[in-house]
Amino acid sequence: MFLSVVVPCYNEQSNIRPFFDKTVSVLSDIIGDTELIFVNDGSKDNTVGELKKLTAEKVCKIKVVNFSRNFGKEAALLAGLENADGEYTAIIDADLQQNPKYILEMLDIIRKNPEYDGVAAYQRERNEGKVLSFFKNCFYKLINKMTEVEFYRSASDFRVLSRKMVDAVLAMPEKCRFSKGIFSWIGFNVYYMPYDVEFRLSGSSKWSFWKLTAYAVNGIVAFSDKPLILSSFVGLLLFVIAIIIMMFVIVKTLLFGDPVAGFPTLASLILFLSGIQLLCIGIIGQYLAKIYSESKSRPVYIIKEKLENNGTSEDAAK
Ligand code: UDP
Ligand code: MG
Repeated sequence: MFLSVVVPCYNEQSNIRPFFDKTVSVLSDIIGDTELIFVNDGSKDNTVGELKKLTAEKVCKIKVVNFSRNFGKEAALLAGLENADGEYTAIIDADLQQNPKYILEMLDIIRKNPEYDGVAAYQRERNEGKVLSFFKNCFYKLINKMTEVEFYRSASDFRVLSRKMVDAVLAMPEKCRFSKGIFSWIGFNVYYMPYDVEFRLSGSSKWSFWKLTAYAVNGIVAFSDKPLILSSFVGLLLFVIAIIIMMFVIVKTLLFGDPVAGFPTLASLILFLSGIQLLCIGIIGQYLAKIYSESKSRPVYIIKEKLENNGTSEDAAK
């Protein structure tokens, strides 16, 4: 198998058919040596019905991995990569925001430049609000300062990976997966290619602002222990400041006999310190929660059923 195309799908019933038609026509030259791997991430609409129809039509080789519930895009990506047999594996969304023609361009880059192990597409211009863009910029600045691996601004999961890269991703045993980090952490020589993102064909994005924030915190906790070190540093700093203030107050009282306004000073100090303490406990809690969920060692996803056809040949559904 030359190419595997991994497509995570969550409530994409009206996008599946147009996505499939476009992908098959764009990849027509290599479609005989390509498999499409759709991972239905517990969709509540008829996504799975659409996928079953495509599989039965046998236009090309299709694998469908049907989850027992919604486990999230990260889990869907993992399941897709685990089922990919291709020499190269492409990851693409089902909503046609990412034109499949770029898969060919990415493959072309890899084939013409054997020094590259993978190509990651990044959005030339982002179709998003200024506020969101500001927060995303802050996130990338922060995570790049806090980790030893580099996170490329705007690079998404839209990429083509060589077999070696896929195997490296699959060798990462963590259950709480943060693909952006995993793709950077494994290293290799990756070419960053700009692409023009399109509008979602239908439906709406599954990412709300708060979901993105939780995702960002998850990424930092998964790839950096700096927040923990920072919280001890803040504790030390506050201790030093407290000593200086105490000495100042003692000297002032001894020399000038000024009475210190007790209640406001105490109230603001207590508020300030308990705020910092809660923040630090919260940071430790984030790591503890990660250790807790990793130690349970639950599977990342549960498969309800798996369908497969044998390309254009006779029915081989299992
Ligand atoms: N997706 C998924 N599981 C989820 C959320 C999203 O498999 O829990 C899929 C979704 O069907 C789409 C891709 O991930 O193919 C990207 O999702 P979306 O378009 O909502 O994200 P955005 O493009 O806004 O970043
Ligand atoms: Mg999208």
